[in-house]
Amino acid sequence: MDNMDSNPNGNRPDNNREPGNMDPNKKHQSILAFLICLLITLVCFALFTNMLKDNSSEISYDKFIEMIDKDQIKEVTLQSDTLTIVPKHQETDFQENVYYTTQMESIDKLTERLEGTGIEFHAEPPDAFGEFVAMLVSVLLPTVLLFVLLMVFMRRMNKNGGMMGVGKSRAKSYIQKDTGITFKDVAGQDEAKESLQEVVDFLHNPGKYTMIGAKLPKGALLVGPPGTGKTLLAKAVAGEAHVPFFSLSGSEFVEMFVGVGASRVRDLFEEAKKNAPCIIFIDEIDAIGKTRDSHYGGNDEREQTLNQLLAEMDGFDTSKGLLILAATNRPEVLDPALLRPGRFDRRVIVDRPDLKGRIEILKVHARNVMLDETVDFENIALATSGAVGSDLANMVNEAAILAVKNGRRAVSQKDLLEAVEVVLVGKEKKDRILSRQERRIVSYHEVGHALVSALQKDAEPVQKITIVPRTMGALGYVMQVPEEEKYLNTKKELEAMLVGYLGGRAAEEIVFDTVTTGAANDIEQATKVARAMITQYGMSQKFGLMGLASQENQYLNGRTVLNCGDDTATEVDHEVMTLLHNSYEEAKRLLLGHREALDKIAEYLIRKETITGKEFMKIFRAVERGMEIPENLDDLVLPVSENEEKPDTEEKHIL
Ligand code: ADP
Repeated sequence: MDNMDSNPNGNRPDNNREPGNMDPNKKHQSILAFLICLLITLVCFALFTNMLKDNSSEISYDKFIEMIDKDQIKEVTLQSDTLTIVPKHQETDFQENVYYTTQMESIDKLTERLEGTGIEFHAEPPDAFGEFVAMLVSVLLPTVLLFVLLMVFMRRMNKNGGMMGVGKSRAKSYIQKDTGITFKDVAGQDEAKESLQEVVDFLHNPGKYTMIGAKLPKGALLVGPPGTGKTLLAKAVAGEAHVPFFSLSGSEFVEMFVGVGASRVRDLFEEAKKNAPCIIFIDEIDAIGKTRDSHYGGNDEREQTLNQLLAEMDGFDTSKGLLILAATNRPEVLDPALLRPGRFDRRVIVDRPDLKGRIEILKVHARNVMLDETVDFENIALATSGAVGSDLANMVNEAAILAVKNGRRAVSQKDLLEAVEVVLVGKEKKDRILSRQERRIVSYHEVGHALVSALQKDAEPVQKITIVPRTMGALGYVMQVPEEEKYLNTKKELEAMLVGYLGGRAAEEIVFDTVTTGAANDIEQATKVARAMITQYGMSQKFGLMGLASQENQYLNGRTVLNCGDDTATEVDHEVMTLLHNSYEEAKRLLLGHREALDKIAEYLIRKETITGKEFMKIFRAVERGMEIPENLDDLVLPVSENEEKPDTEEKHIL
């Protein structure tokens, strides 16, 4: 998503500095660093030599003479003024391998004393040069090494804006000279593109606008659910206008230290002004732009950063061609000051794509993918209602991978449908072995859903039923593809939806006289729909048109909050309960009326694991006609008028 070029040579001012023209501050820093290194080495050296000394110990000259008298010495070496004595190992008072040193009186006396004792005696010239080199190697070399390491480390920190440059904006590491993305790469989103088109034109041709006195808007806020192409659109604006693109995420401004964010904002604007005309893109702006009242939790650092951003936005001159684009999926939490005219005064909605948008997105992503003649994007788009651009991009890629896995040279419709399932419910989980009884329960549960949907005219036709477990947790599922994209749901449709959701649980109860944990997700969904019908859509008798809940974050999970008194909330709960109870009873009634079809289809599903909507309808119709179901479904021939290729339209006709 955000794999922007990192351009370390961007426009870093340090690179333009003449060599040798060192900043005096830096000079001081280097000297200090060198002294620290020297100190560290000296301390280490002292400790080290002390440790080395452990192998020798000093004795008095008297002791040395005593040792000579007792014939305890094997060898004596004289260097400078120091005598190194090697004792005889067999002597018990002295430890083995330990050398003793002592200061000597005079060379004549010593030779006199050693004569005739049989002690080996060597005299070595004082090694002044050697000592000097040893000193140099052991002190100076580590100092220099440490110093170099420290300098490299400090440079790194400076480059990354850490420690020595905490307040530096990181935008320069995300700067792209030319994004290479144009509006052609953004499918659907026509309205969004249209409102950004004039901005592009302005950046291209500012004279045309400034001549009349028009000003470039300072900023535009891209609002929409995740994955709908907000980042892509921002890049496309930069790409169309051929201007550099600075990109940063809101969270990158805010650090642990108060004031860092504000200084990063300053740095970002300074840098951008140098590169104008250009586009600054701030992703997830809600991280810094949260409203400053305490409702959403206050934070000093964030507020300072926001204040700085507001001040910078006021301060720059748009005629230079600096445009700020920001993206968020929580516009309701943004500070009003950020949204007022003169700041982010344009709001561009980048919503979930509709059917046409989805078809176009699929086409854009399939541009470089080999497709065979079976591919029908409209069908895929119908099956993926609610999917966003990133889901669709992912599906096309999954389909291509599946085609390769199956040894084919082009992607077919089957691969695409399989990819849709992989993205929505996960891969097939072949290693999960269900017991016979569990397979029966899952099979009846899924057929219960499908049968109830098919029996209600207002529900969507069934495309596929499967009892192969999936990696995202489903043990089986029914895939339904609507005949057309819907923007509105009638009350009847919602009621049918509720009955459909509860059809699985109803089948379990009818057939096995017990219920399982498998309906948890259905119950959650059904409750959500029922609650929305009562609290938001004004579809209950009791509350009529009273709005009882409001949506909190429309673009994320659509969570709602009740805004009514406690008593009303209790009543709402009762209403929801009654609605769900009635829907469940209806599901049971429908299934009991078609018990034979339920059994026959479930049996067939247990055998085949996956059946298509056509097979489902064929068995259903045959049972309704009182016909026997043969082992092989191809042997089943329905009367001509009911065996046509278009099951969806027929289904409506028959049921
Ligand atoms: P957002 O910023 O809204 O979360 P992105 O712009 O990062 O989403 O989109 C993620 C990916 O999804 C893009 O890189 C692109 O491949 C795909 N995508 C999303 N929307 C579209 C679209 N309208 N057209 C083409 N590709 C899209």
